[in-house]
Amino acid sequence: MRTIGHLIGGAEVVDAAGRFAPVWNPATGEQQARVALASPEQVRAAVGAARAAAPGWRATPLGRRAEVMFRFRDLLDAGRKEVARLLTAEHGKTLDDALGEIARGLENVEFACGAPHLLRGGYSEQVSAGVDVHEVRQPLGVVAGITPFNFPAMVPLWMLANALVCGNAFVLKPSERDPSPALFLAELLGRAGLPDGVLNVVQGDKVAVDALLDHPDVAAVSFVGSTPIARYVYERATAAGKRVQALGGAKNHLVVLPDAEIAAAADAAVSAAYGSAGERCMAVSVVVAVGEVADPLVEAIATRVRGIRVGPGYDDASEMGPLITAAHRGRVAGYLDIATAQGASVVVDGRADPATSGPGFFLGPSLVDHVRPTSAVYTDEIFGPVLAVVRVATYDEALRLIEDNPYGNGAAIFTRDGGAARRFTAEVEAGMVGVNVAIPVPVAYYSFGGWKGSLFGDLHMYGPDGIRFYTRTKVVTSRWPDPTTSSVDLGFPRTR
Ligand code: NAD
Repeated sequence: MRTIGHLIGGAEVVDAAGRFAPVWNPATGEQQARVALASPEQVRAAVGAARAAAPGWRATPLGRRAEVMFRFRDLLDAGRKEVARLLTAEHGKTLDDALGEIARGLENVEFACGAPHLLRGGYSEQVSAGVDVHEVRQPLGVVAGITPFNFPAMVPLWMLANALVCGNAFVLKPSERDPSPALFLAELLGRAGLPDGVLNVVQGDKVAVDALLDHPDVAAVSFVGSTPIARYVYERATAAGKRVQALGGAKNHLVVLPDAEIAAAADAAVSAAYGSAGERCMAVSVVVAVGEVADPLVEAIATRVRGIRVGPGYDDASEMGPLITAAHRGRVAGYLDIATAQGASVVVDGRADPATSGPGFFLGPSLVDHVRPTSAVYTDEIFGPVLAVVRVATYDEALRLIEDNPYGNGAAIFTRDGGAARRFTAEVEAGMVGVNVAIPVPVAYYSFGGWKGSLFGDLHMYGPDGIRFYTRTKVVTSRWPDPTTSSVDLGFPRTR
């Protein structure tokens, strides 16, 4: 059985006597490898390697750090298909979807190539007689990233491109369910000229995460995952004095107003709900049908859902792959029983899809109508190919629904009314909003982040907030006085 280990100080590390977890092939249901689960000692070794490498990397001229990013960008661009194959093998998403993930990750690397511009400081001359002030951005030192299974290449790239180019050393703890893409990215960065130890990868579970959260040399933690763990990471790491951004789960609403183009809204809802088998934090999991749009909209969505081809991600004919594990498939399928028990109607039942009966972790796409806001189908993040339809009478009711929801990642509105769309963007309680765009993931030169239970911390991820997160500012006030004018003055320094 192949063993997937850690990368510490540029060397592959596996402790044969340590703990391991299975890495499944979700399309076949077979175990394809085992991944090492780091012990606290191994995490300490990784942080130690990062700490040792940090001063040299920080002292590396900015232009040279950017050059490493440029080369990494080219290697990743050339290696897209290889990363996509790794991703599909362990995650299960279709190759086309994996390529899309890598393309969005590449955007973050391209953004980081522009860091010399973003790291420019400011200078004020003569703020007082003979006194000048300048501000610089400096790296934090060693920073850590903890990432979820659903974007095993893109989410690490959200973090490490900016963190590294800013001059930090990084310890990445990828999801133990699909650990290989992170190691491949690290290999490419090494080939691009990143010195050993500047990026370390520790595989693992809660043990490794806790060791990172408690380590005094880790200055900041970026986390992406489910809300309970995001809250836990935020609380534990901030209690240890660290800077933290912890992105959590989501329940993203797509509001369809009565004037919307029904075919376009249905196309968008289906793409956004079932892409990557619904295992996206920006997946649409609730369609809020306003007024008389509901019946024709549900019919249009159902027609499309019935046509989705489910199969292995590496098969070009597949539009939707399996779920990540058998346990997760069982949990997601369980919501269809809950839906019926709680008075909703299952319009399309994914359990009837032929792929569901195979050995892989497949579950066909499901559509559930007349879902009540009190039902678990509405309140829980299901994170699978189940789309709920909640029917409301008015725009205000739709808005209130989103306001009352504990999550606030993305929200979208489909309408032909510019005034209604404008009102929605102003009023809605979510961090990322789409107008006739169902998955409004910001481009890399904006920042990504939700509100409420979808993000703990102050700064969003990547883009300008990413640069802010991975640096701290220092303001220097200097005077080069004429020695003949020097005197003792105990008063508070004045500028006028
Ligand atoms: P998860 O919370 O189970 O795991 C995320 C990371 O935390 C993994 O590296 C995992 O090893 C670690 N972890 C798991 N349990 C832990 C524990 N008890 N203590 C410490 N660390 C622990 O999430 P997942 O299942 O890998 O990913 C899916 C979740 O991530 C969904 O909720 C999804 O919405 C969310 N997500 C959010 C965003 C976003 O941008 N907001 C993006 C992607 C995924």
